[in-house]
This record gives sequence, C-alpha cells and structure tokens, in this order.
Amino acid sequence: MLIVMDKNADDAKIDGVVAAVEKAGFSARRIPGGHRTAVGVIHNGKNTDPDRFLNLPGVREVIPVTKPYKLVSREFKPEDTVVKVKNAVIGGSSFAVIAGPCAVESREQTDIIADMVKKSGGTILRGGAFKPRTSPYSFQGLGEDGLKILAAASDRTGLPFVSEAVDEESLEIVARYADMIQIGARNMQNFSLLKKAGAVKRPILLKRGICATVEELLMAAEYILEAGNPDVVLCERGVRTFADHCRNILDLSAVTVIRKESHLPVIVDPSHSAGRREQVVPLGLAAAAAGAQGLIAEVHHCPEEALCDGAQALLPNQLDILCKLSCQISEMIKGAAI
Ligand code: PEP
Ligand code: MN
Repeated sequence: MLIVMDKNADDAKIDGVVAAVEKAGFSARRIPGGHRTAVGVIHNGKNTDPDRFLNLPGVREVIPVTKPYKLVSREFKPEDTVVKVKNAVIGGSSFAVIAGPCAVESREQTDIIADMVKKSGGTILRGGAFKPRTSPYSFQGLGEDGLKILAAASDRTGLPFVSEAVDEESLEIVARYADMIQIGARNMQNFSLLKKAGAVKRPILLKRGICATVEELLMAAEYILEAGNPDVVLCERGVRTFADHCRNILDLSAVTVIRKESHLPVIVDPSHSAGRREQVVPLGLAAAAAGAQGLIAEVHHCPEEALCDGAQALLPNQLDILCKLSCQISEMIKGAAI
C-alpha cells in the first residue's frame, strides 16, 4: 500500500503517517519524490483497509499495491533509481559499460585488461575472484588474492570494480574490497544470501536466474531492498531453453518489462547469453536499443589462454566497438517514447 502525501505536507504530517502505520503493526518507508513524498506500507496483510490512513492530516490518496513486490515497483517510486558505484553511475539517463575478465587469473592479466577497459571508455571493471563453476574441477577463482589484484587495478585506473559473492562467507570478503557486489544467476534465489546483501553497504548487481521469470527477479530484488539496501541494479543475462545456437537466450523483452514495472536500473550481459564471441557485440547493441541502461561484458587480451569463458570473451577492438556504438545507440533513443 502506498500513502501519497499532499505536495505541501510538512515533516510533522509525514511523521504522523509513519507513526500511524507503525502503530497499526506495519512497517513504513519514506519515499521522497520530485513533487511529493509518499509513505510505503510493507508487512501489511492483503486486506488492509486503505481508509484507516486516508483521513490522516496531509494524506492525498492511498493506493493499494497488488503486486507481490512493493519496494522495487514503480508504484512505490515512480522516478528512476540511479545507483552510484564510487565515481560511476548506473541508471537514469546515463549508460554504463562494465567490462573485464570472467575471472581474475593474475596481476598481469588483470592489469592488461583493466587498461583495455579504461581505454575503450568502460565505466566499471568486472572480474570474478570467487567463481561459481559447474564442474568442481574447473578453476574456482583466486579468492581474496583476486580481490586484492582487482583493487590494485582499480586504484591505478580509477575504475570502480564489481566482483561476485557466491555465499555468505565470500559476501563479507567481497564487501571489504569491491565497490559493487554481484549476486550471480545461480544465487538469484538464495534468499538468505539476498537478505545478507540487503545489510551490506555496497550496491548490488543482481543477475536473473537461469530459469527465473521477471517477476521472480523482481521479488529477489525486493528481498535486498526490504533488508535495507536500496542500491540494486538488475541484470538480464539470458535464460535456458532447448536452443543450442547460443549459451542462453537473451530476453530483451525483460528489459522493457523491468523498465516499466520497476524504478531499478537494468543492464544486460550479452556475454553469458551469447556464449560465443561473434554474438556478443550484436546482442549488446540490441540491448542498448531495447532501453538497457548499461552492459556487462567479458573481455580478454588472450582468450585462448583464459581460465574461464574464453570463447565468449571479446577481443580489445570488439570492446572498443561495443562501448562506442552502445553509448551512441542509447543516446539516440533517449527521450524516444519506446
Ligand atoms: C559472471 O558474470 O561471471 C557469471 C558467472 O554470470 P552468471 O551468473 O550470469 O552466469
Ligand atoms: Mn563468465
């Protein structure tokens, strides 16, 4: 339920509404807007009577929210959320390009790739230190040493960095080093991890689960917001189907639905959807045209020697093209009624 305040409702009136909501046994979230403040009511039952709040001083209207998610919905917050990742932003009208290796392999490899990302105009560096691998015999990542390597490359280039946490233990470690924490597709419905991510003071990059619906993705994000962290970026990375001409089918309609339903920024990962290099740039450009607010792509200076996902790693010149054209496309469609 959303309690919309009058334009000129002062703090005392808003406080009064918050107190009334809490007295009723629910939780209240202040949602300041461009023109007026709203108070979001959560933890209330489906059948809460809107009239109990309608006559409070300063209340303009009470809107029941019928969706299973609330805090992430546009009903609760009509304006786009802009997530700050140190000196970079994701969301609003800016277009972010996150790029880097699938996995941190060495200091030298990470430095070379971080320089490539910087030179191409990428805004955030990515790199996995804790890798969720399908086979237990595959390279599992360098762990904390990998984060130290990323932190050094980040300091040197000025690019903030994102890295994945695969469980509660790695979440704590990643939070100590990274500017943004990734929760990957395999953990999208790891609800205890989501709650922990909600208590961390770092923005979260939440990827869509391999077989998850858009609604399930939004509810996963709701866990993080509900636990107190408003800085969540959603990522479409393709879903598993019967098709074998690519790794996962990139679902660009998800981007349009998310932008309509949620105020959270949405970016696209063309690398894990493609699974092969030649599809990554076309999918990334299509994502920009569909209204994605950024991309996350894997890149490697020597993909044939990569310890993880070499087949989908962009070559340096491809990253240049992706950065340049995706930003141009995003600029071109800005303001278009799509
Ligand atoms: C990754 O980004 O390194 C990754 C493993 O992606 P996903 O969780 O989308 O498979
Ligand atoms: Mn990868």
